[in-house]
Amino acid sequence: MQEITNRHGEKITVDDENQILDTVNRWLEKDVRDQILELEHADAYPHEMVEQMKDLGLFGATISQDYGGMGLPSQTYAKIVTTISEVWMSLTGIFNSHLIMAAAVERFGTEEQKSRLLPRMALGELRGGLALTEPDCGTDLQAIRTRAVRDGDEYVIDGTKTWISNGLEGNCVALLVKTDVDIQPRHRGMSLFLAEKGPGFSASKKLKKLGYKGIDSAELLFEGYRISPDNLIGGKEGEGFLQTMGGLELGRINVAARGVGVANAALKDATSYAQIRETMGKPIGQHQAIQLKLGDMATRCHAARLLVEDAARSYDRGERCDMEAGMAKLFASEAAMENAAECMRIHGAYGYSQELHVERYYRDAPLMCIGEGTNEMQRIIIARQLMERNPG
Ligand SMILES: Cc1cc2nc3c(=O)[nH]c(=O)nc-3n(C[C@H](O)[C@H](O)[C@H](O)COP(=O)(O)OP(=O)(O)OC[C@H]3O[C@@H](n4cnc5c(N)ncnc54)[C@H](O)[C@@H]3O)c2cc1C
Repeated sequence: MQEITNRHGEKITVDDENQILDTVNRWLEKDVRDQILELEHADAYPHEMVEQMKDLGLFGATISQDYGGMGLPSQTYAKIVTTISEVWMSLTGIFNSHLIMAAAVERFGTEEQKSRLLPRMALGELRGGLALTEPDCGTDLQAIRTRAVRDGDEYVIDGTKTWISNGLEGNCVALLVKTDVDIQPRHRGMSLFLAEKGPGFSASKKLKKLGYKGIDSAELLFEGYRISPDNLIGGKEGEGFLQTMGGLELGRINVAARGVGVANAALKDATSYAQIRETMGKPIGQHQAIQLKLGDMATRCHAARLLVEDAARSYDRGERCDMEAGMAKLFASEAAMENAAECMRIHGAYGYSQELHVERYYRDAPLMCIGEGTNEMQRIIIARQLMERNPG
């Protein structure tokens, strides 16, 4: 039986993978699909589904079995993310950024931090995400202003983070701060803490947004928040930027997998509608103008899926894969944008209706072009890696 191995050497069989995907599919059909329109348009947090996701083990999907997780390879995990995103992309945000936070602990944390934090994260008891972005900077993370200053046995943190997924409903974040504002290069003054909510750490605002409804995006305030050095990931100051960049490879594969899901959903709905809607005495799918759109949409889905699989395989082998993850994220998110727009055109006025899912794909797709590093930045990362790997 063919096996798939994750970057820690844990293996699952293709049969195991199929069973996991089957279980996720059954859950989506039984407990999710019929509730989406109501939750989406009320922008309501799907509390019940979150409990079901805990039972499915999704909060520990990529955490090693040694620490209570499922230890799934990112190849399998990406398929789960795509499967869920085909139905309701928002749901994946609830465990995606949580697992990037967990990956930062697992890759860079001390043994004490891993055994203290990861089992609670795998159960979804500790639940959160990644707090990097600030009101004044997102792409240029080295310009952050949130500061951690040593005060006796503790650090004191002050600053504001914004657009933080799971910021309201979660109870912790991997928090990027400055521990030294004078050092050059700037990244050597950055550190990553695992910060649990408590006095001085509050979610100050739920942000209103175009799509990605249901899941909370929040502004977080740190005002004299005191934290033990035990929660400085890796136990050493100055490594936070590199730790964050390491976590973003998996993050970009996740976002790419979401893009494939939305692109696939748009293709499925369009293919089905093209065969039932008639104009000029025949289904619109018999008109070449519509066939050209479907042909392009299907090709984009296929290519995006292959890029995600390729990046995930490279991640599982433990290789540096910022170029592969960047290509997958860039292509799959743009595929989601284009397919969502074409799906809407194929549906005519119904594509604009809130009674169908089509308009949601159109609102959700742009997030994938922005989150985990904008697509402009992905192009730059790809080009730099291209030159590094092919010196002139
Ligand atoms: C729904 C949602 C959820 C999010 N979740 C999180 C989260 O959980 N945690 C978190 O930390 N952040 C989160 N973000 C923030 C996201 O990561 C940032 O929005 C993103 O990194 C871009 O930063 P910015 O918005 O500050 O844009 P800016 O950095 O201000 O960029 C503005 C524009 O300039 C371009 N640009 C910037 N620099 C360059 C350059 N050097 N070369 C070429 N072009 C450039 C960008 O591509 C973009 O087009 C979320 C955002 C959204 C919308």
